[in-house]
Amino acid sequence: MRSLAVLGATGSIGASTLDVVARHPERYRVGALAAHRNVAALAQLCARFRPELAVIADPACEAALRAQLRAAGVDCCVASGAAALIEAATGNHCDSVVAAIVGAAGLESTLAAARAGKRLLLANKEAIVMAGPLLKAALRQGGGELLPLDSEHNAVFQCLPRGAATLDAAGVRRIVLTASGGPFRGRTRAQLTAITPDQACAHPNWRMGRKISVDSATLLNKGLEVIEAHHLFDAPAERIEVVVHPQSLMHSLVEYVDGSLLAQLGLPDMRTAIAYALAWPQRINAGVGTLDLVAAARLDFERPDLDTFRGLRLAYDALRAGGNAAIVLNAANEEAVAAFLDGRLPFLGIAETIERCLATLPNGTASDLASVLDVDLTARRCAQRIIAALSSCAARS
Ligand code: NAD
Ligand code: MG
Repeated sequence: MRSLAVLGATGSIGASTLDVVARHPERYRVGALAAHRNVAALAQLCARFRPELAVIADPACEAALRAQLRAAGVDCCVASGAAALIEAATGNHCDSVVAAIVGAAGLESTLAAARAGKRLLLANKEAIVMAGPLLKAALRQGGGELLPLDSEHNAVFQCLPRGAATLDAAGVRRIVLTASGGPFRGRTRAQLTAITPDQACAHPNWRMGRKISVDSATLLNKGLEVIEAHHLFDAPAERIEVVVHPQSLMHSLVEYVDGSLLAQLGLPDMRTAIAYALAWPQRINAGVGTLDLVAAARLDFERPDLDTFRGLRLAYDALRAGGNAAIVLNAANEEAVAAFLDGRLPFLGIAETIERCLATLPNGTASDLASVLDVDLTARRCAQRIIAALSSCAARS
């Protein structure tokens, strides 16, 4: 029996994970659940899954969580704050950690899980984008394994031979990541000036948290995924291609030197990738239905429009620039997306903020966690200044 810590338990990936887990009570038990501030949702999950440890990241919410758990008759340890998240990721209550916190907030617990030798089921792509080399060093140190939950990387993982040391050794020519194109595929820049948060979050194929939904609308999500693929599969930028595939049925492909392309297909439902990672190297029922190929009828592919959706181009540039550029890209994006969701920045201002931040800050190399966090903070401050300038421009015009 495997025991899990689910960090980000109240989110979209958290819910999909717990749905799969609940289908297999003989295989999985929940050792720890963690969330940010949603006390009621976390308390409900605790009542259902009975973890040993419940962590609420915001210390101001701890008393309320204790009270709700007591009222529900749930007897578990309760803790809050950054150290408690690390405890949730590293304690003896779990051998596997689902890293499903959104954004840089998940970095430290993700690294800690790797260092502790847990099986790391990684959804928190921002962590690997910010600190790919540190995460890989932590995994080597801990001796655990990483299984990607991001559907594209999970698909690539499924299409690669087991245990190949390098892409060349496996005979791989390139990796092809598919992208749905998001809700604004086919639009021009002029048509994107007045986009609202709700429009940006209305993804055609996937139901996800608001931050990743906006990232999908700007294609920055695919940019983060290119950097994620670079770290996960040791692939240089020129061997990672992005193809727009609006149906989201083919989740990514691997092309081999003999011309073969292996792809993974399935309904757009994160439970497939989650079940694969949970049970690997076995397979378990994920609760996902059959993809009716005849009903689907067609699979379309297009080149991404890098002029309209500059986020993807900026991510390739950051990957090629190396050093701290990916940390700056991620931090600027997190700040810009939060400002857009708050109504403080227009949709097109997201890529603009990232581009200006990358152009403003000097590049360097962060070789430990403290330096990564330092670059992240500097980039956030820079982004906030740019956002303030862009929003006062927008207010004047
Ligand atoms: P979400 O917004 O639905 O959930 C986020 C979770 O993180 C919540 O449980 C929230 O409580 C927690 N959280 C937020 N801030 C926190 C903080 N400061 N400290 C501790 N916990 C915090 O997001 P999501 O869609 O589930 O995405 C989670 C991660 O998975 C993201 O990195 C996203 O890019 C990645 N991902 C999501 C999907 C998807 O289909 N939703 C697919 C691929 C990858
Ligand atoms: Mg993805």
